[in-house]
Amino acid sequence: MTDIAKLIENTIRADVRAVGSYHVPDSIGYVKLDSMENPYQLPEELRAELGTRLAEAALNRYPVPSYRTLKDRICSKLGVPEGYDVLLGNGSDELITILATTIARQEREAGSKRAVVMAPVPAFVMFSRSAQFAGADFVGVPIKSDFSLDLPAMLAAIAEHKPSLLFLAYPNNPTGNLYDADDMVAIIEAVGEHGIVVVDEAYQPFARVSFMERLPQHPNLVVMRTLSKLGLAGIRLGYMSAAAPLLAEFEKVRPPYNVNVLTQVAAEFALDHLDVLDRQAGLLNEERTRLAAALAALPGVEVFPSAANFISLRVPDAERACAILHGEKVLIKNLSKMHKLLANCIRVTVSTPEENDQFLAALKTSL
Ligand code: PMP
Repeated sequence: MTDIAKLIENTIRADVRAVGSYHVPDSIGYVKLDSMENPYQLPEELRAELGTRLAEAALNRYPVPSYRTLKDRICSKLGVPEGYDVLLGNGSDELITILATTIARQEREAGSKRAVVMAPVPAFVMFSRSAQFAGADFVGVPIKSDFSLDLPAMLAAIAEHKPSLLFLAYPNNPTGNLYDADDMVAIIEAVGEHGIVVVDEAYQPFARVSFMERLPQHPNLVVMRTLSKLGLAGIRLGYMSAAAPLLAEFEKVRPPYNVNVLTQVAAEFALDHLDVLDRQAGLLNEERTRLAAALAALPGVEVFPSAANFISLRVPDAERACAILHGEKVLIKNLSKMHKLLANCIRVTVSTPEENDQFLAALKTSL
């Protein structure tokens, strides 16, 4: 009999064996405020129409390889500059993996060090995980205690490590704030032709600011977005735009047919009704204002400014708050263990007024 433990030791990379899998808790029966989803579905009549379109989709065929119709719709509806195209991913998670894979393992000029992926931290965990699995080194540069970029530290780290890839989430997850745009430009310019800077705009539908129109000024800039937060997390569609020669390189690494036919049909349909999704985002922004004010009025709670569909806050005891919320069937994210800047911090998705009130009531009992 083959010894499975020996088999794993002989075949699976040591760094993969050492980490846990990306943990997503089961949420059945819970008020789900841990994943930044839009709580609203498409209106019923639109869902019925979408059902008809999906029923007509040719599931016996592979997707159209160029995805031209969907890409054209994204380019025209979502502010991609004239002359720029997009590359599609199975969520922006896949795009992050493609980016890291494309740059990693290259021999560095000085010695044969591995490629470096850099990001201000705390940041979205997939930036470091994808770098690791692609065989690159990840260098995280701490942000300041007010969650703004530490520009001198970033510039020093860029000079020292010459990152091939640098991620800036705008707004940042898990903190929720927008970095200063001038600081970001300084970083993009400092990285220059040595590296690619990805501005991850996953929360752009709520922040309503973008680096997309700056693409022509910065050949090393990639702007990445997703339809997930806008209300289509279930279909898994991310897109990124960059100068054509750069996109052509990423295209080589993209798995064929990575976006499936059902996603393609649903995304094209949803983009024809973007006004509906935008209105939902507007409602969530109003709720964010209300929820932030209600939280700020609670004793011992520090609320951080957010331009996204979630709010990060510091409570007296995050462990206790999460346990009590869990007992009340409300799922949120405990950020405490992510980074020392986030001690006793939690993150909550902005949801419907009813679910936000449920969260508020449960949180109050924990204070
Ligand atoms: N970027 C950031 C900053 C995120 O917070 C997330 C989701 N949590 C993603 C990318 C991934 O989004 P998706 O794969 O759903 O497109």
